[in-house]
Amino acid sequence: MENYDVIIVGAGPAGLTAGIYAGRQGMKTLILEMMMGAGSGYMVPLMENYPGFELISGKDLLDKMRKQAEKHVQIKNFEEVKSINKKNNNFIIETANSEYVAGAVIITTGSRHRRLQVPGETDFLGKGVCYCATCDGPLYQGRKVIMVGGGNAAVQEALYLDSLGCQVTLVHRRDELRAEPYLQEKLKEKKIPIIWDSVVEQIQGEQVVDKVILYNRKTEERKELPVEGVFIAIGEEPLNKIAASAGVLLDSEGYIVTDKFQRTNMDRIYAAGDITGGIKQWVVSCSEGAVAALSAQKDLNP
Ligand code: NAP
Repeated sequence: MENYDVIIVGAGPAGLTAGIYAGRQGMKTLILEMMMGAGSGYMVPLMENYPGFELISGKDLLDKMRKQAEKHVQIKNFEEVKSINKKNNNFIIETANSEYVAGAVIITTGSRHRRLQVPGETDFLGKGVCYCATCDGPLYQGRKVIMVGGGNAAVQEALYLDSLGCQVTLVHRRDELRAEPYLQEKLKEKKIPIIWDSVVEQIQGEQVVDKVILYNRKTEERKELPVEGVFIAIGEEPLNKIAASAGVLLDSEGYIVTDKFQRTNMDRIYAAGDITGGIKQWVVSCSEGAVAALSAQKDLNP
């Protein structure tokens, strides 16, 4: 079994930053990544609020972070962690391919897109239903699509789809958006239409999506809207399976509870990034990753 001081689960902004800090503290560190780094961060089309970069895509920023992390730590792709168990004074981390021993574990498993859970959503996945404008947007150039949601992600992705030349309409369940004012202003500037107070009740089509049934929650009316693409950005759910099975304390929404040093209820298990809930911003995830690594360093060298 390979031995490490620290094992980091996940290679998003929190995991990579934790890696940079842990490695630079002289700790033998391994990052285990379920896929090959293509987490939800890859899907962010453009960011204007990561300090130091006026405009950068999630993919470009993650690639830069990964390159920097690889100077200090090893990253293994396609190593989905199956379990974390305490044995003596260490942790045994089991993946599909191997077993590792570590003195400390930092969990940065993030979150995944919430589903609408309406008829047609699963059937038309990849046939008109999309959760990633960056990945699938170019396929819908010149076509009529809706973006469902009223948060930062939905508005940002609607703007991106518009910039690609898609005929995008935002569909939101209330009469005001949750997205930050700056993004709302941009939406107005680009004259992107919004259907208010409405939810998607069904997604329909033959081979691929050709319409949605919308229900107006105020007027209680239903209407058919012909569309070729249904983009969904209605928030996220924590990826907490490993944390829960390890015995890490979760809050009522399933996010990992940490103190301000990113320590969990379990000695030498830390958590950072979106899996801890709260403000989901890259800069926050990075900060938490740094704090988690420095806390681990302190706890391993009392
Ligand atoms: P979010 O802020 O939680 O917003 C989710 C949106 O989806 C809300 O408008 C919500 O409606 C709507 N919604 C939820 N469930 C729904 C359902 N079943 N049917 C229809 N609509 C539904 O999620 P997000 O926009 O994905 O963002 C996630 C986190 O990442 C947030 O913390 C966000 O600030 C952050 N983020 C930040 C940026 C940025 O800083 N630029 C960009 C992207 C994401 P209600 O408003 O009615 O609740």
